[in-house]
Amino acid sequence: MIDIIEYPTTDANLYLDLLDPDDARQLAGRVDHFKGSSVIHINSTAYGGGVAEILHSLVPLSNALGVETQRAVITPRDSRFFDATKRIHNMLQGAEGELTDEELAIYYGCLDDIAEDIEQAGLSADVWFFHDPQLLPLGRLLDRRTAPIKVWVVHIDLTEPNPWLMERLLPLTEAYDLLICSLDDYAPRQAPEDVGIFVAPPAIDPFAPKNCEMPRHKAADIAKALGIDVSRPLVTQVSRFDFWKDPWGVIDAYRFAKRSHPDLQLALLGLSQANDDPEGEQVLRSVAEHAESDPDIHLFFSPYDLPATNDEIVNALQTHSRVLVQKSTREGFGLTVSEGMWKGKPMIGGNVGGIRLQIVDGESGYLVDNAEQAGQRMTQLLADAELCAEIGRNARDRVRQRFLIPRLLNDYLRAAQQARSAAPQPVC
Ligand code: UDP
Repeated sequence: MIDIIEYPTTDANLYLDLLDPDDARQLAGRVDHFKGSSVIHINSTAYGGGVAEILHSLVPLSNALGVETQRAVITPRDSRFFDATKRIHNMLQGAEGELTDEELAIYYGCLDDIAEDIEQAGLSADVWFFHDPQLLPLGRLLDRRTAPIKVWVVHIDLTEPNPWLMERLLPLTEAYDLLICSLDDYAPRQAPEDVGIFVAPPAIDPFAPKNCEMPRHKAADIAKALGIDVSRPLVTQVSRFDFWKDPWGVIDAYRFAKRSHPDLQLALLGLSQANDDPEGEQVLRSVAEHAESDPDIHLFFSPYDLPATNDEIVNALQTHSRVLVQKSTREGFGLTVSEGMWKGKPMIGGNVGGIRLQIVDGESGYLVDNAEQAGQRMTQLLADAELCAEIGRNARDRVRQRFLIPRLLNDYLRAAQQARSAAPQPVC
């Protein structure tokens, strides 16, 4: 099944006002180029995770600027599709093993059905962006009348993918006119030569409820309603309960810092478990065990009895915390890093993937290689409010310059232009 998500209109001027004049002119030029063309972004989950988050902002902004843009979400007929694609996701990030014939059959079979659904629904657009490996086989299943220009956007870290899987998946990229990766390093090394590669790091929406300025008293009220003692310092990691986000390492870092800051509290916020991620519960159980019933470790997961919306809670905990952490051991980009930095907070990030692009170590945050280093930085920051403020200011400025959503829209339109010149021309 395929669903089209409708969005209310948004005020594009708010976003344009944030841009440097040169960037605003560039974006306007690209938008002009695409007036009269239509665009579809298609992915596998309506909510949860970074891709859904980006599209939720990018699609309405694109429409508001005058490029007709739709967002489509697939619902596979077999729920085991997501078990298979989660394994694919992990293997593309380096996990060992092979898929079974059954898993491959489910993966391909579900997408065959989706392609039929798309044809039957008469869904078409001039430019299609297919997001992530979940959608990869779909490109070759849609003919050029339905999808004249096809772009595959891969949001994950492909630096050390499982070779067995890459051998099977890479030929599927031949159906695309262009691949978009989040970082130079992620470009699949053995990708077919005639498929162009474009680098476009993700970005955040500064006006989304999750990122807009929240008064400190409101943030404290929400934190309090969640059971946090607002008179004591708090460190937070906002992340799905996922192996690669290393929630265990965050707990170890917190324990290290607690030796010098005994009143420290930790929040692990994992409310938005994506429905394409079946491993979350298992990770959560293991993290809860690792927390050993410490009353100062707060685990928030879904479903949970919430005093506010998910986005308000993310905003509140990021605004209220003294220090933020994203201690991933693999991270395609890590939207939570820019989200936290945009709040003007010092962020301690794992020294991997897209986190390295966002944080300039020692300037706009800290990069760490292990839990002990994270604990040391936590300890240092908790003892130095001025340092927190300085790093936080630099962090916000870095995000304003590089990681806001109009820049990403400009990149996608630029990529579509490039893909258009690479696409086979229709035969008259
Ligand atoms: N998120 C959320 N609530 C939570 C945990 C995460 O809304 O309790 C959001 C988070 O704010 C971010 C997204 O989920 O916008 C996660 O994106 P990221 O790129 O950091 O990681 P991914 O989940 O895609 O691996």
